Amino acid sequence: MGTPLESRDAQVAEVLDRLYDEYPDAAISLNYTNRLELLVAVVLSAQCTDERVNEVTADLFEKYTSAADYAAADEEELADDIYGITFHNNKAGYLKSMGETLVAEHDGEVPDTMTELTDLSGVGRKTANVVLQHGHDVVEGIVVDTHVQRLSRRLGLTTEETPERIEADLMDVVPESDWQQLTHLLISHGRAVCDARNPDCGECVLEDICPSSKRDSAVDLASGEAWT
Ligand code: SF4
Repeated sequence: MGTPLESRDAQVAEVLDRLYDEYPDAAISLNYTNRLELLVAVVLSAQCTDERVNEVTADLFEKYTSAADYAAADEEELADDIYGITFHNNKAGYLKSMGETLVAEHDGEVPDTMTELTDLSGVGRKTANVVLQHGHDVVEGIVVDTHVQRLSRRLGLTTEETPERIEADLMDVVPESDWQQLTHLLISHGRAVCDARNPDCGECVLEDICPSSKRDSAVDLASGEAWT
């Protein structure tokens, strides 16, 4: 039976408890060795899988080792170097422009504030949150990617719809010490069990508290529509 706990606080606490047990090693799955590589990897990962990004960055990070390298890059060549990444032409433009800004305004370093990061080409709040958390140990918010968006709605943690509003809503109810790990836990669960189209509710550790469980709910709260 999928019956959520009475309060949102209790539901969040129970979800966190169970997912911490289930995924004790949940962590970021992009490969990087410094802040610039992290920033580049996260920009490339928008609407692309982390696996594909890791394949491409294995060579990319050998060739481009500084912000100046991206700034000086030939944009077409850079697009070729990231071929296979979704929207590779656009992202080549972002990386070049980002390199130029880092060189011109930040001595080639990756800045450590939300405002400075979101001023860079191709960097929105989600990307900036990841870079702040993993590059600078600054946790200013909750990273809401497609998995977090889907699972937080399915599990009744929020009824908001856009990533920005979901983030603000979750920040009200999730303890700050769990902001960073919540993302990794929900991503792990999304990948392992709670797939977008065909979640395996029978194998889910949250089934009894999930109001979207296919076992007894006709509706997927992530979309608000009937399960197909
Ligand atoms: S797998 Fe099913 S029961 Fe588990 S969180 Fe997803 S929708 Fe809910």
